[in-house]
Amino acid sequence: MPAMSKPLVVQKFGGSSVANADRIRRVAARIARERASGSDLVVVVSAMGDTTDELLALAGAITDDPDPRELDMLLATGEHQSATLLSMALHALGVPAIALTGAQAGITTDGNYGRARIAGIDPKRIQDEVAGGRVVIVAGFQGQSKTDPTLSEITTLGRGGSDTSGVALAAALDADRCQIFTDVRGIYTADPRLVPDARQLAVISYEEMMELAHQGAQVMQVRAVELGWVNNVVIEVLSSFEDVPGTLIKEDPFVEQRNKVRGLAHDRNVAKVTLVEVPDRPGVAHAVFAPLSEGGINVDTIVQNVGHHGTTDLSFTITRGDLAKTKRILEPI
Ligand code: ASP
Ligand code: MG
Repeated sequence: MPAMSKPLVVQKFGGSSVANADRIRRVAARIARERASGSDLVVVVSAMGDTTDELLALAGAITDDPDPRELDMLLATGEHQSATLLSMALHALGVPAIALTGAQAGITTDGNYGRARIAGIDPKRIQDEVAGGRVVIVAGFQGQSKTDPTLSEITTLGRGGSDTSGVALAAALDADRCQIFTDVRGIYTADPRLVPDARQLAVISYEEMMELAHQGAQVMQVRAVELGWVNNVVIEVLSSFEDVPGTLIKEDPFVEQRNKVRGLAHDRNVAKVTLVEVPDRPGVAHAVFAPLSEGGINVDTIVQNVGHHGTTDLSFTITRGDLAKTKRILEPI
């Protein structure tokens, strides 16, 4: 009789779950338990704690305008640290494991540094390692671009991008489960750190989750939810600190019939830009927003005040990290 193949579980651990050596050991113990229960495992990690912010701050201490290619090489090292350390922690428990960079894991992207999109995944290396009995730890948030086929360049997927790595790998590997471990128990009706009586949801639809993530709920990256939706990956969000049921993100057949507010989210990572005394004539908004869009800046809310004496004030919001670039693009205009 052919051996029954084991279920393949993709687990992603966020920065707070691997913030220090102790927590990395705890994550390793959890992985060892799952493996002992008979699963094959591919594990995606974020950088330890605030490592990515710290690396960004370091680059910012060197220059206001770091080269995007160099910045991606720098940021990718955060996930190399956590992946290799977790692999070592598994070795210490007697569990065979190997850490792979995004490139080694077969993840290719477009050439947009800092916000690359996954172009494809060749799962062969991961599958070989799993077949060899190893737990595969993949550095999240990164891939390689091959826009020039002779070169391999490290790219990153945008902040929070290891969620996308996790869901994309679950889709490419046709995993049986995709679990996103984080520092909360799951998805809540509001941020439980701000609203004490927020309730945890057992199930949420992709659509509702995307809406929440879009509005600033930080539990999961919007793109990752979208990717799960498109590829029909059921995503389980759960706590890495407590053994309690999480929240399932999946297609919800009842979503159309429900007409209630499901959740509230907020976002502090926003910068507001106001252009004062902008000439109040057609085409001006285009002159401002077209170059921003070409520069890859995602403009959110736009408010244009009532004009006085032929001028008006134009305000809009962007992600805080895009502020320097936005200023650079708009100054000449
Ligand atoms: N370490 C990266 C970040 O902080 C990616 C991630 O956490 O998913 O944005
Ligand atoms: Mg993170």
